Amino acid sequence: MAAPREDTEQTDYGSATKPCTARTCFDFATFMKMQGKTIEKKMEKNKTKQKECPLDKDSLGRNTWSFLHTMAAYYPEKPTETQQKDMSNFIHLFSKFFPCDYCAEDLRKELKTNKPETASREELSQWMCRLHNKVNKRIGKPEFDCSLVDERWRDGWKDGSCG
Ligand code: FAD
Repeated sequence: MAAPREDTEQTDYGSATKPCTARTCFDFATFMKMQGKTIEKKMEKNKTKQKECPLDKDSLGRNTWSFLHTMAAYYPEKPTETQQKDMSNFIHLFSKFFPCDYCAEDLRKELKTNKPETASREELSQWMCRLHNKVNKRIGKPEFDCSLVDERWRDGWKDGSCG
């Protein structure tokens, strides 16, 4: 098979026209079904040997959002110009390599009109929260109250439940 052309390699970051068959594009139940396995069988096996396994779409998403919101929560209050540019570049680069290809494609489309707001910790945290809410809405999950973003990702809940 011919090697991909250099220019294609650099610009083709996955497209919905090529269906993704990786584990990172499916929830666990669907992926197991595709493999001809059932969750019950898998759970039974897991009882005897607990192994750390590759991420499916949902665990990848959960872990990634945890990282993105925590990164925003600890971003400088007054970032330098360079830090602002670096963060914006980071988010754009992230959208090229996030290993759920249709999620990444949607994110790249979103970033064309909704640029990362990197002028302060507060702005980035709120921008990230709104971005996550757009995904929540698209996939039928409840929206999160963005006024609580610091309690969730930095300070812990006001009722002291996080210690
Ligand atoms: P998650 O949505 O992963 O959230 C984790 C925790 O974050 C929640 O428990 C809550 O405490 C907190 N939280 C929720 N909303 C917010 C918010 N707005 N601001 C701050 N904190 C919040 N899945 C798809 O099926 N289709 C997609 O197109 C898709 N695109 C994605 C794009 C990106 C960039 C990422 C990182 C993930 C994407 N996912 C997508 C995965 C999806 O968003 C979820 O991560 C996954 O479905 C698991 O959901 P969850 O219920 O565990 O909670």
